[in-house]
Amino acid sequence: MNLNLSHKELITIISGESSSFPEYPIDIIYYDTRLINTSRNGVFFALNGRRNGHDFINKAYEKGIRTFVVNKTVDLPADATIITVEDPLRALQAVAKHHRNQFSYPVLAITGSLGKTTIKEWLYFLLSDEFNIVRSPKSFNSQIGVAISLLEMNDQHNLAIIEADISHPNEMEFIEDMVSPTLGIYTGVGHFYADNFESQKAHAAEHLKLFKHANITFVLSEHKNELRKNKINSDIVDYDAWKKLDFSQLSYSNNRVIALHVAEFLGVEKSILFKKGEQLPVLSNRMEVFEGQDDNLIINDSYNIDVDALEQALSYQFSSDERKDKIVVLDLSYVEENRKKDILNVVNSYSPTQLFIIENNEVPAELLAVKNSSILFKGSYRSRLKETVLMFKNRKHETWVEFDLKSIQHNISVFQKKLPEKTKLLVMVKASSYGTGDINIPHFLQQTGIDYLGVAYTDEGTTLRENGISLPILIMNTEIDAFDDVIRFQLEPSIFSIAQLEAFCNRLREDNISDFPIHITVETGMNRLGFYPEDIAELIEKLKLRPEVKVKSIYSHLADADNADPAYSLEQIEKFKAMKTTFKNGLQDDEILYHILNSEGASKFGKFASFDMVRLGIGVFGYTSTAAEDELLPSIRWKTTISQIKTIQAGETVGYSRTFTAEKPMEIATLRIGYADGFRRSLSNGVGQVFINGISCPVVGNVCMDMTMVDVSNTNCQAGDEVEIIGENIPIKTFSNRLKTIPYEVMTSISKRVSRIYLR
Ligand SMILES: *Cc1c(COP(=O)(O)O)cnc(C)c1O
Repeated sequence: MNLNLSHKELITIISGESSSFPEYPIDIIYYDTRLINTSRNGVFFALNGRRNGHDFINKAYEKGIRTFVVNKTVDLPADATIITVEDPLRALQAVAKHHRNQFSYPVLAITGSLGKTTIKEWLYFLLSDEFNIVRSPKSFNSQIGVAISLLEMNDQHNLAIIEADISHPNEMEFIEDMVSPTLGIYTGVGHFYADNFESQKAHAAEHLKLFKHANITFVLSEHKNELRKNKINSDIVDYDAWKKLDFSQLSYSNNRVIALHVAEFLGVEKSILFKKGEQLPVLSNRMEVFEGQDDNLIINDSYNIDVDALEQALSYQFSSDERKDKIVVLDLSYVEENRKKDILNVVNSYSPTQLFIIENNEVPAELLAVKNSSILFKGSYRSRLKETVLMFKNRKHETWVEFDLKSIQHNISVFQKKLPEKTKLLVMVKASSYGTGDINIPHFLQQTGIDYLGVAYTDEGTTLRENGISLPILIMNTEIDAFDDVIRFQLEPSIFSIAQLEAFCNRLREDNISDFPIHITVETGMNRLGFYPEDIAELIEKLKLRPEVKVKSIYSHLADADNADPAYSLEQIEKFKAMKTTFKNGLQDDEILYHILNSEGASKFGKFASFDMVRLGIGVFGYTSTAAEDELLPSIRWKTTISQIKTIQAGETVGYSRTFTAEKPMEIATLRIGYADGFRRSLSNGVGQVFINGISCPVVGNVCMDMTMVDVSNTNCQAGDEVEIIGENIPIKTFSNRLKTIPYEVMTSISKRVSRIYLR
């Protein structure tokens, strides 16, 4: 904001009264003392909102403000200029109106009950190469917000996009008077109307007052009549026409179609819209501020990292004096190189105490050690910074799992050392990477430079592609229904029957596709999926007739790798070798990769049976059934916290169905974990144990859905203390043995509601 108004002009614009007229001009308007952070000449408007601005006048004075717009008698030192008006809000709006009228470029206003912010941000995204746009920050669409938005206009811009909302009758006329939009977008009021209106029609009519003088207002056809009745000149956004122009991967929404239509109207070429239309940002709402752990104040603004939004967030952070140390965490993944410099310049101009630049959610230890500071998290919507922010939430209310990326990296190199040098690595990331989360581990693996990823089902591969994974992805089990997705997302299906091969090739032929990568699964003794040795001759003949596909690899799977006796595995390996010879002779293709070993197999037989590639899974996380256990590092910690401690007397019972009765007085802690988190009910009554402050504590009574009680009579602990479920003291194998299962099932059963944290 740079107003450059003399006191005289300001007083005239707002019809105020004042006894002094200082020489210096006014640059900036404040209405919230928390935002005052400048030595520039500001004026403070004492608005009578939820918090009465008049109560903050002295605070504003302390922060250096000397000009005040008020409607009450106030007591300030003699060097203050006090301008008295009837209503400070209307005065603020009068300044905004005056300011807006300095500029003749188009002002596009958006109103309606739904989708305003989304459409505004999408238009900004679609138009920002063609226009220098000023737009409402966040969802600043109230009587105050619109005024503040308009005050951001300057002569460098050539388009303003302003959103506006109302909740009472007769509010819009003030906004209309300020904004005077030249163009409008009306999104409708939906089936619900604000309580303060007598009908949906009345609510709609109030919104539409914004466009009384607009040249054109854009609406979907369903709102055409509302505009006609209110005598507003409209342009109908043709939803169906846009829908016909099939953007390959997208679902359609009203918001998307409106944004595309208006961008085209403003001169953006369709070809560009097509490209950008596929990349529209996913918007989460606003900046979130909350008390985190270690006395940190967390400012989470992790959806948008353009310079304006960054300035907003920084000025908020630096104007608050709640914490002395100001830490800024930027996630610059997905930010173009030339923008990075601008962003860093803005941040450095505030001189943060510490600046962390992170990528892909990997958190440096120094950041984890930060205490008693305000921490601003800023990243684009595509960066996954939100998940990092989770780590700083108050863990006292949580159950979480930590994944140690350093250990994972270490484990991969342990395997690499066991394998002949040229062996490729495929990592199986099925079932959300063994329950570790959809995306983080695949991203990390992609960075560490493995060769392939594998998943069980097509949807899992689709999720990876939608989140920026570009490695080749093998799908083990491809359903015929999923062929379209397989093709669209360049996933590589495993073929395990002739019928499936024919169906897939026929589908490819419809699109004239040739050489589409596939894998062949062969059966050597698992008896799960794949071609038997006797089917291979026929398969080879069929493959020769099918230019639609190209075999990338041929693989089998060990059934008994964890048996101390290797006989069965060796037999499978021999069978696989024989099949390999048949394929080599039949297909005459030396590029095909052969592979049979999983983690356990790779660590036992890697030296002589890795063929061209191995498929690692659980070993990456540091677990195998028998082999290599000593060399691998466990990578998982599962933790929860104590919510309450109780003392119970002999004879009292604990929990549902009263399955536990105390024999003597004891201390019981209630934990924030239950069977809905994956802490299974079969751990009830002493089967399960947890570790608290150096002592193993058995479960008492039945595990509940969301809580579990444990005996802490021998432990020194209090509410809020951390509890280990799996970790240094309770290895995952101990835990899985208590459940009579294996680490695989434990990992994949930790439920979605448990937060996942990734440590770098
Ligand atoms: C899951 C799976 C793997 C990985 O197994 P781990 O025992 O976790 O190493 C390898 N290959 C296939 C076909 C699989 O289904």
